[in-house]
Amino acid sequence: MNAAIAPPVAPDLIKSITEALLPRLRDIRRHLHAHPELSGQETETAAYVAGVMSSIGCPVREGVGRTGLVAELAGTGADPRRLAIRADMDALPIQEETLLAYSSLRPGVCHACGHDIHTTVALGTAMVLAEVRKTLPGEALPGDVRFLFQPAEEVAQGARWMVADGAMEGVSAILGLHVFPTIAGGSVGVRYGALTAAADDLELIIRGESGHGARPHEAVDAIWLAAQVVTTLQQAIARTHNPLRPVVLTIGQIQGGRAPNVIADRVRLVGTVRSLHPDTTADLPQWIDNIVGGICRSHGARYELNYRPGVPSVHNHDALTRLLETSARTALGDGAVEVLAEPSLGAEDFSIYLKECPGSMFRLGVGWSDRPNYPLHHPKFEANEAAIAAGVITLASAAVRYWHTPELKPPLAEA
Ligand SMILES: [Zn+2]
Ligand SMILES: [Zn+2]
Repeated sequence: MNAAIAPPVAPDLIKSITEALLPRLRDIRRHLHAHPELSGQETETAAYVAGVMSSIGCPVREGVGRTGLVAELAGTGADPRRLAIRADMDALPIQEETLLAYSSLRPGVCHACGHDIHTTVALGTAMVLAEVRKTLPGEALPGDVRFLFQPAEEVAQGARWMVADGAMEGVSAILGLHVFPTIAGGSVGVRYGALTAAADDLELIIRGESGHGARPHEAVDAIWLAAQVVTTLQQAIARTHNPLRPVVLTIGQIQGGRAPNVIADRVRLVGTVRSLHPDTTADLPQWIDNIVGGICRSHGARYELNYRPGVPSVHNHDALTRLLETSARTALGDGAVEVLAEPSLGAEDFSIYLKECPGSMFRLGVGWSDRPNYPLHHPKFEANEAAIAAGVITLASAAVRYWHTPELKPPLAEA
């Protein structure tokens, strides 16, 4: 808790407005859940969201980031800063296996990552802030709050599209959320520093020389070399990287060979690389190339390594994380707030926005105490809807408190 913060709006007001809106928010969430759309195809979702935002008096700019949109909740203009709140809208190519009455109506597509909850929470936050603006004109919202409804998070493209279309112009700080099944529904988790990892993709093609399976000395066996590459990468990553700076390399696909008695001349390996420390992230392409090159050259094989940087690590800004923590503690109670000790090696393209301004993303608990908690991306994943109120109350409280927090006044310190 920061004693210097003097909240201009009683958390009780935000809680009571949220409480009154809950039936509507549950309906919105269930509608979104039943009508999921894949990454880059969120046209119906975007139109639905645009309708809700327009209905509460927020001007909407559609087609931002292809199928995304931006909506503005205007403050009084007394503070020139602009706070952004981001929600992603896309679903996954998974056949839903829950027995929910409002389960996906689209075969093979479902909201198994909880982005329906994120979209609902952002809409709810806008509705609550619009009411706060009416009830307490003036002081409560001196600056604008911009809502970013992003497409294509699951393919790590949407945030880039939004930024390219100007969604972050004039934004001073950004807040985001992601559901988390191991935190109880109704609770939230905040983390100072790294929240998620940098995630890069690699594709490696090893080219040897074909030959008869009985005469290996006349060939260059690409399968044998691929096996060495995989084994050496896994051993070397543990022995040449600082164990206090996590890094994980996973080869998830391997293809090669045509017949049991023919030596393979080509093997393709595809994988993902996760790291938390920026120095490690920067070194990895050359480090992998050295190992692969050493093995291939010493046995007369050629190789092509395509290393594609994906998304950077989400690094939460200290003062904005404190804003989220304080807002949640004040409104939800200390028992509903967890300061997370560990980051995840998952990836999140929220980090793309953090190149533009400081921000913080929190974890919104969607776990159950009385039934199994399936992980994200599982066909039986089912979010506890108690999360909707907790998410809205946390974000709406933070959006009101932001303007009145001394340590968030410019110039903002790096963190
Ligand atoms: Zn996901
Ligand atoms: Zn997700």
